[in-house]
Amino acid sequence: VTSTSAPALGHVFADALPELARPWRAEEAPEPRLLHLGEELARELGLDPEWLRTPEGVRFLVGGEVPEGTHPVAQAYAGHQFGGFNPGLGDGRALLLGELTAPDGRLVDLHLKGSGRTPFARGGDGLAAVGPMLRELVVSEAMHALGVPTTRALAVVATGRGVRRELGVLPGAVLARTAASHLRVGSVQLARARDDRDLLARLADHAIARHHPAAADAEHPHLALFQAVVAAQADLVARWMLLGFVHGVMNTDNMTLSGESIDYGPCAFMEAVDPATVFSSIDHAGRYAYAQQPPIAEWNLARLGEAMLPLLHDDQEQAVALAVEALGGFRPRYDAAWTEGMRAKLGLPAGLTPDVVLALAIDLQALMQAGRVDHTSFHRALSAAARGDAEPVRGVVLDLPALDAWLERWRALGPDPDAMDRVNPLYVPRNHLVEEALDAATAGHLAPLERLLEAVRSPYVERPGLEAFAAPAPPDFGAYTTYCGT
Ligand code: AMP
Ligand code: MG
Ligand code: MG
Repeated sequence: VTSTSAPALGHVFADALPELARPWRAEEAPEPRLLHLGEELARELGLDPEWLRTPEGVRFLVGGEVPEGTHPVAQAYAGHQFGGFNPGLGDGRALLLGELTAPDGRLVDLHLKGSGRTPFARGGDGLAAVGPMLRELVVSEAMHALGVPTTRALAVVATGRGVRRELGVLPGAVLARTAASHLRVGSVQLARARDDRDLLARLADHAIARHHPAAADAEHPHLALFQAVVAAQADLVARWMLLGFVHGVMNTDNMTLSGESIDYGPCAFMEAVDPATVFSSIDHAGRYAYAQQPPIAEWNLARLGEAMLPLLHDDQEQAVALAVEALGGFRPRYDAAWTEGMRAKLGLPAGLTPDVVLALAIDLQALMQAGRVDHTSFHRALSAAARGDAEPVRGVVLDLPALDAWLERWRALGPDPDAMDRVNPLYVPRNHLVEEALDAATAGHLAPLERLLEAVRSPYVERPGLEAFAAPAPPDFGAYTTYCGT
């Protein structure tokens, strides 16, 4: 099944939803040079890594070589950006090359980012710099290794073209990424904004076929689709919260129908535990702060429900009632996923009463927050406490009597330290190390990036020599700021 030449790419999306697909081509890359190839992912998809490394393969990865029968498109979508509706978004600097058929039969989008201006570029230059594309590579690889549904990076290719940014002219790059699909809440919002019920229904049917096939068998498939997206997003955001992940730009165009995380722009992993954690330079109000993520996901899903109203019932009052009821599924689903995740992080036995887990988790969070402890290393250090060595956690918490009381309550429930080490990562993409690796790569040195990838691709298994990857940023790193659309 391995393709030793350009793979066949489908155009299922473009055929099913031509209103949302603008045929378009990538801008020529003057001097494409492969910076990173996700070999394992390539093989998983039936692609030949050797071929992808050839000049022809690299041209394919930047959209310069378009195989016969391929119909690349820029996808149109709408979306709420920081709460304000924008009906005219879309792939401003991206293209859907088409769908790969994985060896197991599932369709996988192959998508380019940084491939030049499209009709949706508005004021943008259509380009991307090497640093941010490698950042998406690192974070999406980490998320995948952490078991979080996510888009994946197949390759990052330097284009040889300069990209003008605030910092000056930076080397440009194209990210080739894969996804279950790029259908977004904003895609549905666009269909609704066009007041086109047929388009809306086709879009919903396409999403059911690709992501939530069980909905097809439900009594009311479109309602079942909405319920399925609500559930998938509740599960996803619970995973983010358990990892201390801050997405940073949860606009409705950055929320998938598949339940995969998408758009690793201003995201970052929280170090000092603080619900108000914000990294994005433009998120002044903290709309997308760490602790805001579950309510924002619910808000976005309410916008999805609104957009789907014409599909839910002919009587709009009844449609609203159905949407509200389905949206009511978010909180219990989120709570269950989060509590179950905390149970596992705390190494507690399955089947323990959720209230017991919840009370322990809430008290622990308060201790962590008061001590501004590092989220990732603290959770990992708890397994040592389960083994009888509480010093690693006692060394970072301020209120020791409260911590000791908490540890006693927790130990009485019999936590399993080995199970904890399988779910509490040692290695996440630390902000200071990401910056270091991206700066080096921008200057032409890829070794730090490769080392960082090696660490985060196996996040749970402690290896000698990787101590620096398990530690928070040194104090002189200061407050961390991230940027969108770079
Ligand atoms: P994001 O914040 O990454 O979700 O992007 C929001 C919108 O801006 C999307 O429609 C992007 O395609 C578009 N966009 C971001 N950066 C650029 C760029 N450099 N050129 C053109 N469009 C862009
Ligand atoms: Mg986006
Ligand atoms: Mg982005």
